[in-house]
Amino acid sequence: MTTIMEKLSREVTDFRGSHEETPVKPDVSPGEIRDYLVSRFDFSLPRSLESIFDDVKEMMRKWNLHVTHPGYFGLFDPEVHLSSIIADALVALYNPQLASWNHAPAANEIERFTLNFIMEQFGFNPETGTAHFTSGGAEANLTAVITALTCKFPEYGEKGIRGEVKQPVLYISEEAHHSFNKIAHMTGLGRNAIRVIPVTDSLKMDLSVLQSRINYDAWNGFTPFLVVGTAGTTSSGTIDQLLELAKIASRHEMWFHVDAAWGGAGVMVPRLKNYFSGIENADSITCDAHKWLSVPMGAGMFFSKHKNAVYSAFRAAAAYMPDRIKETEDPYLTSIQWSRRFTGLKLFMSLSELGKPGMQEIIERQTLLGEKMKNLLEETGWEVVNSTPLPVVCFTHPEIESGRVGLDDILTLIYRDGEFWISETVIHGSKHVLRACITNYRSTETNIQRFVDSLNKIMKSIEESRAFLSRNQ
Ligand SMILES: *Cc1c(COP(=O)(O)O)cnc(C)c1O
Repeated sequence: MTTIMEKLSREVTDFRGSHEETPVKPDVSPGEIRDYLVSRFDFSLPRSLESIFDDVKEMMRKWNLHVTHPGYFGLFDPEVHLSSIIADALVALYNPQLASWNHAPAANEIERFTLNFIMEQFGFNPETGTAHFTSGGAEANLTAVITALTCKFPEYGEKGIRGEVKQPVLYISEEAHHSFNKIAHMTGLGRNAIRVIPVTDSLKMDLSVLQSRINYDAWNGFTPFLVVGTAGTTSSGTIDQLLELAKIASRHEMWFHVDAAWGGAGVMVPRLKNYFSGIENADSITCDAHKWLSVPMGAGMFFSKHKNAVYSAFRAAAAYMPDRIKETEDPYLTSIQWSRRFTGLKLFMSLSELGKPGMQEIIERQTLLGEKMKNLLEETGWEVVNSTPLPVVCFTHPEIESGRVGLDDILTLIYRDGEFWISETVIHGSKHVLRACITNYRSTETNIQRFVDSLNKIMKSIEESRAFLSRNQ
């Protein structure tokens, strides 16, 4: 009889070695899962943990889009380090409460130590800056907007946007992350307070439009308070001109936030670092450890140079909370969350195990695989439409462009094959293209080669069936 702990440890090993056998994408309807749940589970009676484990394992293996599969070329969701899986289990075990330093001294210091290291990679000084883990990039971006508002409009905290006669507006590019729409909604700014700046052919924010829009707004009674640059856009991995954006922001006394949720990890790698230059001039940065640093969700990070602005935005007082201890920070006073999970351990343990060189090598290898994919696609007649040093490739084909082959037909056939998963995206507002991103540090050149081969096979089969149909009409 295997114990439940043995079952768990066996599954961690088995699952991680089984990817080549399972399809990336499940083929299942909601009804099928619901029927199964009703047939197997009924909270009115207890069941053995072993049998529950078996059922959960079955469901997760069968009915999940496997983002940890080496053929998943998807949406920044990574294969995760074993060390980070172990870390998350330990976190659940000890269940430390990180809201205050007092309740979790070791955990709070481990997070601080880890965040300081990442902060230095971005060129921020940990002595004068501040950082904390968030649920993800969306929360980190929200933190940035609240901090910027509090800093630029000192009344915002007490009177809210209602009390603000100066009409705050913020600037993002049309390729920026859509979390900012929700953030404008949530903060009371309103979605209309977002100025969406078009991008140039390179998919970077158009600086001359930005500049004139700022002037126009200022003339018309609005107060430009925040510019967001994206370092690795979600669709195409494009890095905005951060140095220039920082200058524009500073000229207009605006807060400069860099959303580097996925791409940010690239600053650790010498061959990529230059593409991020200007990020060190940001007032705040978003970076997700659960994207390119390959730890499980959710592990966002927020960094700012301005301790006081952040503290002022999240100030709180509650009689039941322990008193602050000298020379320490209480995260509930410096961030959105109150009860706080020990998010940082998974990054701490994987960084410690790999060391900076190990992490760099992984990021660099994925970058090279992205280049390989791009080259193979171009060599075989596909057209790559984005240009970025980061490993995300947006592409189309003359047959798609001419309307003879549907993008959806290609995706359907890829998903049916089960060996790969890619997405589609829209660039320049209307152009539909295929999108493949290297998110898995265990993907190999063979995976890339097979992927491109299979795309070409799919294309050929569509062409052949079209020829067959037209012959037989
Ligand atoms: C993924 C992403 C986000 C959102 O981060 P979550 O961790 O999903 O909340 C924000 N900005 C960019 C550029 C992203 O790629």
